[in-house]
Amino acid sequence: MKILYVEDNPANLSLLQRIARMGGHIVVSYTDGESALTQFESDKPDLVLMDVQLAGGITGLDVVRMLRARGYKTPIIAVTAYAMTGDRDRCIEAGCDTYIAKPLPVAELVELVQRYEARLNAPPVIQPLPSTSTPTVETKTAPVAANSEVEVQAVVTPFIEPVLEKETAAKPEAHEETKAERLTAPMIKPMTPPDSPASPAAPLR
Ligand code: MN
Repeated sequence: MKILYVEDNPANLSLLQRIARMGGHIVVSYTDGESALTQFESDKPDLVLMDVQLAGGITGLDVVRMLRARGYKTPIIAVTAYAMTGDRDRCIEAGCDTYIAKPLPVAELVELVQRYEARLNAPPVIQPLPSTSTPTVETKTAPVAANSEVEVQAVVTPFIEPVLEKETAAKPEAHEETKAERLTAPMIKPMTPPDSPASPAAPLR
């Protein structure tokens, strides 16, 4: 996968590059947040590592906020120098998925990269949810829109609702009656002689 690492410390960058090379990943890197923002759309990274203190005029958390504001859902791991407890909250509030403290713990970083790669390659759990939620949204939309116009709605709904109810109700009933008749018919026919057109096939006579 493609990893974007925004980092102004070359030692940390070379460490991640070695880790990424082991896993066969590509690394794109910038030392300032402005470049990362400008290039983000064309870079299209699968995972972002974001140093909090950067070389340019904006912090890493500023970059994260702007990316989230633009609607990007890309997983972002904040990388920060001070392991203060409040740092984690600041990073999560800015829109980061998780947080890692310097000096970079190699084993933890390798595990993090592998976890996000596995998540990237296993998307089928997310897909069924939108399909089931879409009909629910559509049915909700109609009553809400009708309620907004109270006077007009009182005239319109009596015309629409009876038609819809009859159509939806008639179809299942028609099928059920036909099936019920077919099922009961053979049981009645042997008992009642007046059904002459169907009964001649009866071999009992
Ligand atoms: Mn830094």
